[in-house]
Amino acid sequence: MTTKPIGIAVLGLGNVGSEVVRILTENAEDLAARVGAPLEIRGIAVRRVDGKRGVDTSLLTDDPASLVDRDDVDIVVEVLGGIDVPRKLILAALEKGKSVVTANKALLAEYTGELNEAAEKSRADLYFEAAVAGAIPVVRPLMQSLAGDRVNKVAGIVNGTTNFILSAMDETGADYAETLAEAGRLGYAEADPTADVEGYDAASKAAILASIAFHTRVTASDVYREGISKITSADLETARSLDCTIKLLAICERITTPKGKERISARVYPALVPHDHPLATVNGAFNAVVVEAEAAGRLMFYGQGAGGSPTASAVLGDLVMAARNKFYGGRGPLESKYAKLKIAPMGDILTRYYVSMQVADKTGVLATVAAEFSKRDISISTVRQEESSENGARLVVVTHLAADSALSETVSALDELDVVTSVASVLRLEGT
Ligand code: NAP
Repeated sequence: MTTKPIGIAVLGLGNVGSEVVRILTENAEDLAARVGAPLEIRGIAVRRVDGKRGVDTSLLTDDPASLVDRDDVDIVVEVLGGIDVPRKLILAALEKGKSVVTANKALLAEYTGELNEAAEKSRADLYFEAAVAGAIPVVRPLMQSLAGDRVNKVAGIVNGTTNFILSAMDETGADYAETLAEAGRLGYAEADPTADVEGYDAASKAAILASIAFHTRVTASDVYREGISKITSADLETARSLDCTIKLLAICERITTPKGKERISARVYPALVPHDHPLATVNGAFNAVVVEAEAAGRLMFYGQGAGGSPTASAVLGDLVMAARNKFYGGRGPLESKYAKLKIAPMGDILTRYYVSMQVADKTGVLATVAAEFSKRDISISTVRQEESSENGARLVVVTHLAADSALSETVSALDELDVVTSVASVLRLEGT
C-alpha cells in the first residue's frame, strides 16, 4: 500500500520560495522518510506566471486563494511578503484546518493574535521559525527547549543589513550614506532600505521574540524603535576609543519596577557594545541572539539571518514538523500568552548613555554641562574632550545607569545651554 502524500501549497517563488521548492524537490526522498509520507507540491503562487522560473510550469498559478482552497492541500507555506494578501490567505488556510508555515515577521508582529486564534480554533499548526533571524533556530528553542525555564532576557542582532552597514563603517571609517550605497550595490540593502535602517524589521522580530519569551502578546507597536540612519563615522570613532563598537540591538527583557511590579521591555536601537561582549564580534550580514534564562544561564545562537537558502532551511524545518503532525496526529505548540505582562514605558528603562556634543571651548563649560546631569540624578562615568576646532570642542559624556526619561530631559536642557552648540548624538551603552 502506498502512503498518501501530504499536499503542499507554496505561496511565493522569490528568494525564499525558490529555495524552498528546490530543497523540496531535490531532497524529496529524504524528506518523505523523515516525515513518514511524501511531500507533494500542489502548486506555487506567483504574481506573474511565466516559463522562465526553473520549476514545473504546470505548478504555477497567479491565483493563490484558489490554491490555498484546494482539497488536496494540507499545508500552506507562505513566503510572499506584505501584510494584507498573506493575512487573508493564511486565515483562509487556517480556517479550513490547513497548517501554515510562514517567514513573514511583519505580518506576525502585527496580527499574531488573530492568526493564533484562527489556528487554535481549527486545531491547525502555525509555525514561523524563519520569521526571526533566518536560518538560526531561536523560535523553537524559546518555545520548546526552554519551555520549562524562565527566560529573563533575549537580546541580539537580528537585522543583517544594518549589521553589515555598521560593521563596514567601523572597518573603513566611511560615513553612513556612502556605506548604505555600497550595501545596496552588494545586494545587502533593498532599493527602499527604510524597514531595515529605521529598525522596523528588527522591531517586528523583537515583538515576536518578546511574545514567546515572556508568554505575553507583544506587537510591533509595543516596541520602542530607533534606526541607524543618524550614526556617524565620528560616533564609531568615539566608540572605538571607548573600546566599543556600535550595533543595532533588539532587546527584550523582564524588568522589575521600583514599586516591585514585573514588566517587560522590548526595544530596538543602535548601542555601544564593548569589544569583549559576544555580540561585538558578530560582523557583516550575520545575526546572533543571546538568551538569558534562569536555569539554563546564557545561551548564544549565531548564523546567517537572511538569504534564500538559509531562510528556506528554517521553513523546511517547520514544514517537516507540520507534516509529521499531519501524518501522525498531534499539534505543535500553541501561542502562550498566559503571563499577560505589561510593557514598561521607555522612560522607565535604565541604561547607560553616551552623549556627544559640540561645545564652546572656554572655561566653565564642563561644570555647566555636568550640572545638568547632576540636577536629574544622573551620575557621570567618564568625560572626554575629543577635539578642538575653530567651532569649539567636542565633549563626550558617558553616564552610569540612568532612566531614559531623565536622560531625555537632560538632553533637552543641554540643547538650550548657550555653551552647547549642538547635541550631536545620544546613544545607549549595552552589555557593560
Ligand atoms: P521576494 O523575493 O520578493 O518574493 C516574493 C514572491 O511572492 C515572488 O515570487 C512574488 O511573485 C510572490 N508574490 C508576492 N505577492 C504576490 C501576490 N499577491 N500573489 C501571488 N504571488 C505574489 O520575497 P522573499 O525575499 O522571498 O521574502 C518572502 C518572505 O520571507 C517575506 O515575508 C520576507 O520578510 C520573509 N523573509 C525573507 C528573508 C530573505 O532573506 N529574503 C529572510 C527571512 C524572512 P513574482 O515572482 O511573480 O513577483
